[in-house]
Amino acid sequence: MNATSATFELLGDRLTLAVLRDAFLERTCRFNQWLERTGAPPAILADRLNALVLRGVFHRVPQPDTPERYEYQLTELGLSTWLILVCLWGWQREWTAEGAGEPELVHEQCGHRGPAVVVCWECDNHITARNTVVEIESDAVWSSTSGARRRSSRLPSQPTQSGDMQFNTVMEAIGDRWSALVTGYALAGARRFGDFRAALNVSPTTLTDRLSRLCAADILRKCEPGQQYRPTARGMDLFGVYASFIWWSGQAFPDATGRGLIIRHRLCDALVEPVLKCRGCNSRLDRTSVRFDHLRTQ
Ligand SMILES: [Zn+2]
Ligand SMILES: [Zn+2]
Repeated sequence: MNATSATFELLGDRLTLAVLRDAFLERTCRFNQWLERTGAPPAILADRLNALVLRGVFHRVPQPDTPERYEYQLTELGLSTWLILVCLWGWQREWTAEGAGEPELVHEQCGHRGPAVVVCWECDNHITARNTVVEIESDAVWSSTSGARRRSSRLPSQPTQSGDMQFNTVMEAIGDRWSALVTGYALAGARRFGDFRAALNVSPTTLTDRLSRLCAADILRKCEPGQQYRPTARGMDLFGVYASFIWWSGQAFPDATGRGLIIRHRLCDALVEPVLKCRGCNSRLDRTSVRFDHLRTQ
């Protein structure tokens, strides 16, 4: 499986995102704490944590008080998912009704609140769908991906009552490998059914299904004439989320059969490494220079 598909397979899951979010915001590190916070069935939670440990997002260490049990600590790679989460929360807050419950980014130094700008590490300019080129590194890799909504070995995750788990809208775009690839390819400029089909080597039934789901979720819209599919404004604004996922896929899956999607910045010709910049004071942001205000817990 190529790195892009593997990344969406691993992280494009509402429980996995809730686990990571609690690890960052609540310093959650024990199985029972996640169980309590997310309300997920134990077997499914264990499945997700195992997948994250296998991929090197967490490592297990014995609990200081009960060494026969483990704690989960974010590795360097795990810490780097911060960028994806911040982009996701920002998008949710901006575009969805449920997003008001997502954490709000606050820059400690200047006090600015609200979403950051996603800029290019290399040239410091804004990165958008319009000033980048999304390339498919190897077209052969797509045929090896399955059309299943989730890998069959994977236990399904259901929405729960917990607000932390309400990624319903964005899950239409990223919660399934095919949806993620179709959205990514639409952001790259694909417009016609045949373009998607040829590039992704996807069956017509699967493609029709994903396109209509993405239209229903207001991420794509079908335009006359020519029956083209175009990203809506909020679909276009998912670009930062995609850029961070695709950058991370290169970090997490250097051994994959191919990169899958890669994004090149037209302004500097570098492969995109997204960096967040404060809209208030224009300085670059990292994990230590921001905090998150979370309405529900205050
Ligand atoms: Zn650049
Ligand atoms: Zn600032």
